[in-house]
Amino acid sequence: MRGLILVVEDETDLATTLEYNLQRDGHDVRVAHTGRAALAEAANDPVPDLVVLDLMLPDISGTEVCRHLRESERTRDIAIIMLTAKGEEIDRVVGFEVGADDYVVKPFSVRELMLRVRALLRRSQRSEGGDADVFTFGRLRVDREAHRAWVDNTEVKLTALEFRLLLAFVSRRGRVQSRDALLSDVWGIQAEVTTRTVDTHVKRLREKLGAAAGYIETLRGVGYRFRDRPDEGEDE
Ligand code: CA
Repeated sequence: MRGLILVVEDETDLATTLEYNLQRDGHDVRVAHTGRAALAEAANDPVPDLVVLDLMLPDISGTEVCRHLRESERTRDIAIIMLTAKGEEIDRVVGFEVGADDYVVKPFSVRELMLRVRALLRRSQRSEGGDADVFTFGRLRVDREAHRAWVDNTEVKLTALEFRLLLAFVSRRGRVQSRDALLSDVWGIQAEVTTRTVDTHVKRLREKLGAAAGYIETLRGVGYRFRDRPDEGEDE
């Protein structure tokens, strides 16, 4: 289980050690030496999967950083492992008040931290239903978090509604979706639109997807279906 990890630690030797070991474990790593730098790095695109966060930082405390991360919609779901010294308010750190997912007491073995990182990444990916934020399907790539999509590495400019429609398709790929179901999922049940509106938007979405348009199939009289596999049906 690999991820993008943000290491927040003002002791530069320790930060370097963690960076080295996380990279050796296959992770991508960013490092911040202050709380403010951490908040900036955490909000940068792409948002990290996990933060290793030292409690004692020179400007704002780790608990404060943690609270800010949990408050912002963009960073709310990042997994957080707090580094604490013995006796440093561990109950508060892992409790509801601050909201860290795990903690490690200093001095700790690097190996143990690596294991905790892996375990936490596994846990948080599972809680997202097994789908990572960035979904790749043949020529199509969708970043759920950033609300962006690419076909053959060229970004496709979608409206918010088209993006919701695309997400509705990819999250239920391989399954039939009726126009009525799409209407209530994407537009909301109270919306004053007809099933013909669904067809219009699907048509527009397909045009924008270009080479990836074929992933959305029309089932006459039924609705639509996003393919289960990118190459499905192409050799039939
Ligand atoms: Ca420190």
